[in-house]
Amino acid sequence: MLTTVVGSYPVSDPCVPESISSKISNFLGLYDPYLPLLEQAVKDQINAGVDIISDGQVRGDMIQVFARHLPGMMVEGGTSKIFDKIMPSNNSLAGNDLKFAIKTAQKTSSDFLDSIKLNNKVLVGNDFNKNFKGVKGIITGPTTLVLSSRVERFYKRDEKEKIIMDMARALKKEAFALQEAGAAIIQIDEPYLSTGVADLKTAKTAIKIITDNLSIPVSMHVCGDIADVFKDILKFSVQIIDCEFAGLPNNIQALEQEYDGSKKIGFGCIDTKVESVDELDHVVNLIKNGLNIIGEENIILDPDCGMRMLSRDVALLKLKKMTEAVGWF
Ligand SMILES: [Zn+2]
Repeated sequence: MLTTVVGSYPVSDPCVPESISSKISNFLGLYDPYLPLLEQAVKDQINAGVDIISDGQVRGDMIQVFARHLPGMMVEGGTSKIFDKIMPSNNSLAGNDLKFAIKTAQKTSSDFLDSIKLNNKVLVGNDFNKNFKGVKGIITGPTTLVLSSRVERFYKRDEKEKIIMDMARALKKEAFALQEAGAAIIQIDEPYLSTGVADLKTAKTAIKIITDNLSIPVSMHVCGDIADVFKDILKFSVQIIDCEFAGLPNNIQALEQEYDGSKKIGFGCIDTKVESVDELDHVVNLIKNGLNIIGEENIILDPDCGMRMLSRDVALLKLKKMTEAVGWF
């Protein structure tokens, strides 16, 4: 069974330059304080034995990173605003981070393999990542970005559909840049789809705009209670639907009633809302339930949601618990 993550990883404050070379870069205005955090996130995920990892989304929350980047949007007083026509950006937001993550992951997993050869003993399970298969590129969905931003000036407030379509066209460019940079899959985060405030028809058209002509698989992550929307989101033009099943056991019922085998399911099996590390038995039983409904060929395992709010130790232990549970099958 394939394992992945939803995306965000715990971060400490941006690093201050310590080595001579980073101090020189800082002096020249070239030091990037987020890269050491990105490196740490990648190494932890590799160390935990996850197959498809993320860059840890270390640069900030999922709304504001895009609001700061896309023409027509801005962040003011901590609020994301749409103040002009939303246009595709000339340069990609996360392409360089993705390339750096791939390089770090490849180096980390080959270092682990080298150390096995050197020490001439067999390390098993979580001690090295023989599984690493790639890095996912993540974008925040058009519906979620628009509904969590304040609309000022250019668009009228009741023109949500038009804004979401413009947003989708701008994000399509980001998705292609991530594919170009070497992403294994693209994930679109649309938490607003389970809240009852989003228009699912508009959301579906917007997702189609982004995914048309992409050649790599696309996953859509919708967290929260999906009982009312699962049937509808199964029809979106993506290959994987990713939801929470550990912290929201009622979602299993929706899966049981509505799942039709048409998509792969990202099966959240680790509770990301609590600091306590999940019990192995509990995770194994949850995966068994998921397997019975989804089938081995269609299940992908991951934590429920991003892990930004957890401590780094807990996040790492939770990921290890997930890969340990997979070892039981
Ligand atoms: Zn989520």
